[in-house]
Amino acid sequence: MEVGNRDFVNKVPKKPVQRVKHIPQRTCVGCRTVLAKRQMIRLVRTPEGIMVDPTGKLAGRGAYLHDRRECWERALKGALAHALKADLTAADRERLEGFLNSLPQDEERGGTPHVND
Ligand SMILES: [Zn+2]
Repeated sequence: MEVGNRDFVNKVPKKPVQRVKHIPQRTCVGCRTVLAKRQMIRLVRTPEGIMVDPTGKLAGRGAYLHDRRECWERALKGALAHALKADLTAADRERLEGFLNSLPQDEERGGTPHVND
């Protein structure tokens, strides 16, 4: 005598498919804010020095920064060297300061500065 239909017993209930978008997030080394990776500028430590990596594809230890001068200034003061576990050479500094200077000034966005107390 045959006993039941095993296939029926072994049927695994289907899990509901959860469509959770996985957005890679990174921390800005300047202000420690966590943001979507694509909103950040990647910096990478290469054998030639620390480079801005607009493609995000260069191999090497990377760090991320906002496109804000404030964050870059903090990064250049040591946060970046710490994040990349590398010392910034004079050439690195020059290159990164050049990039910093190409960024829009935060002050220029916000209109008139506060004069009165
Ligand atoms: Zn930042």
